[in-house]
Amino acid sequence: MNKVPALFLIILIMSLFSCRHNQQIITRPNILFFLVDDLGWEDTGVPMWTDSVENNRYFRTPNIARLAAEGMKFTQAYASSPVCSPTRTALMTGMNPARTHITNWIPGRGNHPAEDQWLLIPHWRIGGLDHRDVTLPELLKATGYTTVHVGKAHLGRKGTVGANPRHLGFDYSVAASYRGGPGSYYVPYGRIHGLDSQMIDLEEFFPDSLYLNDALTIMALRLLDTLAKHPENPFYFNMWHYAVHAPIQGDPKLMDKYRLPGKTEAQVQYASMVESVDRSLGKILKKLDELGMADNTIVIFWSDNGGLVSHSGPPTTNYPLSSGKGSSHEGGYREPLIVRWPGRVKPGSVCSDPVITDDFFPTVLAITGVRVPDTIRRHLDGTDITPLLLQTGGIERPHPLVWHYPHYWGWKALRVADSTITPFSAIREGDWKLIYTYEKGRCELYNLAEDIGEKHNLAKEKPDVAQKLCGDLRSVLQVMGAQTPIDRETGEAVGLPEFTEYTD
Ligand code: CA
Repeated sequence: MNKVPALFLIILIMSLFSCRHNQQIITRPNILFFLVDDLGWEDTGVPMWTDSVENNRYFRTPNIARLAAEGMKFTQAYASSPVCSPTRTALMTGMNPARTHITNWIPGRGNHPAEDQWLLIPHWRIGGLDHRDVTLPELLKATGYTTVHVGKAHLGRKGTVGANPRHLGFDYSVAASYRGGPGSYYVPYGRIHGLDSQMIDLEEFFPDSLYLNDALTIMALRLLDTLAKHPENPFYFNMWHYAVHAPIQGDPKLMDKYRLPGKTEAQVQYASMVESVDRSLGKILKKLDELGMADNTIVIFWSDNGGLVSHSGPPTTNYPLSSGKGSSHEGGYREPLIVRWPGRVKPGSVCSDPVITDDFFPTVLAITGVRVPDTIRRHLDGTDITPLLLQTGGIERPHPLVWHYPHYWGWKALRVADSTITPFSAIREGDWKLIYTYEKGRCELYNLAEDIGEKHNLAKEKPDVAQKLCGDLRSVLQVMGAQTPIDRETGEAVGLPEFTEYTD
């Protein structure tokens, strides 16, 4: 990790940028990043697979469909982690969780007895982001952008600087804190926790009993009105919904249409949460149109980890992917990504190249004309994907895509029911994906082009491929300085991934 004070870097960037011609500053695009929490790959009406699936027909998301029709859909976009905080901090830094050591949702659950989890959790940055980190909004703000965050942050632990987005480079922060989920989507949005409540800034909506997503949307629309009064400053705007994270509490005004034969109450409630988010997107797109800002605003729609399939109903499925949030399989971190960039990205286009959350940081800097500081350049794991957006060519990565989750997610019963939920690292090269699980030191190998559901482990059949990928995974994790779980008996960290013949 780089330890150069962020302030120094900001001054450096400001001095570099001041040399640019004013006209370039004026025409720099706005960025509106619409992030949905825990939204699964097929949890919208926009098919991400080659075939339409039941979920695509059940969920009603006309505004997400509009965005896809007007922009580019990525069918192999990944979150950096199967849980919240590591993906979110990768977005803000361009660094993979294996490098930042922010590897779990903050603050995680700590260690459990041996019968629940055999390995101990390694040291990790449980506090989340702090002043050591050079964040995307800091760099943008230093070059004239107004920076806004609305909704769930979950970037730092309670009581730390990173708990408040205003300490991480945001000019405005609304209803954001250390918390990873709302106490409730209904007023007073979890205030039952009293002073511990994360849901600040929304008290004015209590009398009207607004659904949380609607309250956040009103706040966002107001801020867009404010930004429109200062067209000389481009903006970077995080609209990061708490939805569709648990608790699964539907929008009462939208639920009835989802009460279809065979659908559970959790599915009904969840589908209305998704539609509520879609309506929020629709209102924001309409506001951009009304304010005359749509043509100069890039809108990005994404999620931070896979859909919740293991409990709370479960409310959804990630079919055709296997498993969901918390898992080492594709359902844990393959996400719907859509980018609308008027005049630059071809409407209705589709990109099937794999991309990952780490890419967001360098891509936004490239688009906004902000130079990556030399002091962090070599630590970036993401790659500028502008050539994919503009369809001008491919991209070259510094290393293959990797995931690193040396933690136990959920509780034992979940992991007994779903063996894909376990401390793991994984790598993707071409169509091949290898998962290394630390408890058994075992490799799983899948060909995603032929087996998107990860049903057929080919490690025994293709030991040469498995060995190659496992070696590459080990090398990348070594360079990143990834931490591994601790053996209870020896007190030592277990080894990085190492190939052994598959023996099941
Ligand atoms: Ca999440």
